[in-house]
Amino acid sequence: MDYWFPYKNPRKYQERMMDLIYDSLLQRKHCIMRAPTGIGKTISVLSSALKFAKERGLKILYLTNKTSGQIQPLKEFNEIKKKFDNNNSLMGGRIISKKDLCKFKKLKDLDTESFYNICKRSKKKECKFYKRFKKDLFKKPKKLKSLFGDDITKFLDMFELRDEMGDYCPYYSIKTYLKDYADFIVLDYNYVLSPHIRKGFFEIFDPSKSIVIFDECHSLPEKCQQLSSVRLSSSVFLACMDEIDEHREEYTNEKLSEKGEDQIDQEVDETIQFLDSFQRVIEYIVDSRRKNEVPFNLEKIQGISKRMGFEINRRGIGYAVDVLTYFSEIVLEEKRRSRCFSLANFLKLLLEVQEDQRFIQFVNIKKYNDRFFSYLNIHCLDPSYLFKEILDSSYTVIGFSGTLFLDEFKKIMEFPEDTVTESIPNPFSEDQRKVLVFPKQYANFTLKTRNEDVDFKANQLTKIINSMKGNVLV
Ligand code: SF4
Repeated sequence: MDYWFPYKNPRKYQERMMDLIYDSLLQRKHCIMRAPTGIGKTISVLSSALKFAKERGLKILYLTNKTSGQIQPLKEFNEIKKKFDNNNSLMGGRIISKKDLCKFKKLKDLDTESFYNICKRSKKKECKFYKRFKKDLFKKPKKLKSLFGDDITKFLDMFELRDEMGDYCPYYSIKTYLKDYADFIVLDYNYVLSPHIRKGFFEIFDPSKSIVIFDECHSLPEKCQQLSSVRLSSSVFLACMDEIDEHREEYTNEKLSEKGEDQIDQEVDETIQFLDSFQRVIEYIVDSRRKNEVPFNLEKIQGISKRMGFEINRRGIGYAVDVLTYFSEIVLEEKRRSRCFSLANFLKLLLEVQEDQRFIQFVNIKKYNDRFFSYLNIHCLDPSYLFKEILDSSYTVIGFSGTLFLDEFKKIMEFPEDTVTESIPNPFSEDQRKVLVFPKQYANFTLKTRNEDVDFKANQLTKIINSMKGNVLV
C-alpha cells in the first residue's frame, strides 16, 4: 500500500487522487489537480504525500491562503498519525505569522515590514522573550521537544499556545521545534511567497527537501502579484522630510564616528532636496494628467526633472535609499512605522524593475470627500515572478483546488511542460447538487467576527437541510 489512508475504505476518486500524487512524487514532477469540493482532496493528498515524505526524510509544507483553512489538514494529519504512527515518530505542527505570535501584542497593528524591522532590532537588544528562548531552548533539543510533546492538537488554537509559552518567544520556539522535529508543517502562503519573509524561512527549511503543497491554489496568481507590487501615497515625501527633521540630530550623532559634521549636513540636505524634487515631478505628472491613471518610469522622471531645472538619476536615487534606510532604523527605534522605510523600499524596487517588462509603474488619482489623493504604484503583471523560485528549488510542488482552469493556471504560473495535471470529475450527479446563494454574505468569518446575520443564515441552511431526504454534504 503506497498511502496512509486513515478511514475505512477510500472511494474511487480518493484512490485516483492518492495514486496521482504518489506517482508524481515518485517521478519528482509537479502536480496540479482540480477536484470538486467535498470529495476528500485534503486527506487524499496527505495520505500519499506523508508516507512518501516520511520514508525519504522529506518535510511537507502545507500552505493555505487563509488561516481558517489550517484546521482541517491538522486534524487529518492527526488521524493519520493515530492510525499509522506506531512508534510515535511522525511529528507535525503549525505556525502563524510572527506578528500574531509576538508576545508584544501592541505591535500587532504595525505593517509587516515595520514589524519585522522592530523584531530584528529587539532580538539584538532588549527582547526578554527572545533571550529566554536562546538561553533555555535553542540547541536544547530535549527541552524543546518536551515543551511541545507530540500532541498536534496543541496547534489548533495558536493564540492559546502563544499564551501558554510563558517567557519564551513563541515564534522562535515553534519555528525551531518545527525545523528540528516536524515532518508536516501547516503555514500561510506568505512564508514561501513574501520576498521579505521567505529568504529567512528558506535559510532554515531547505526547499529541496520539502514537498510544497498549495491548498486552494486558484488564489496563487493574485497573491503572487499582490506580494510583488507596491503602492504608496504621494504624501510620503513630505512625511519623510518630517521624519528626517525630527531625527536629524540622532543621525548626525551616530554618523560622527564615520565622517565630519559638514559632510553629514550635506548628505542630509541633499536627501531633503531629492525628496522635494521627486515630489515636484510627481505633482507635475498629476497636474498635467488627462486620465486618472498616468504611467511613469525612471526615464520619464529624469526627463521631467531636467526640464524643471534639476536632475533625478539612478545614482541620486541609490544615494537617497541609503540615507532613508539609515533614518528609518533610527525612527523605528521609537515609533511603530517609518515612512522613510516605505519610501526606501519603493525606490529600491523602482531601480530594480526599469528593464523588467513584467512590471508597470503608474500614478493613480482617487477622489475622497471632494479631495484628490494620488498614489505611486509599481505593479507586477506576472504571477510567476515570485513563484518560479519555489518551482525551481522545492522537491516538488502540489497544487489543488475545486475551481481551477488547469491549462491557464499551468501556463501563467510557468509550471514546466512535464507537470502532471488532472481534473477529477464530480462524483455527484446533477440532480444531487444544489447551489444556494446568500447575497452579500462574506464567507470568511471567525468566532470573533460572527454576527446575527451569519447565525440567521446558518439557521436557514439548517432548515433547508432538515427538509431534504437522505444525506447532505455542505
Ligand atoms: S523576538 Fe519574539 S517576542 Fe521578541 S519582538 Fe520578536 S517576535 Fe516578538
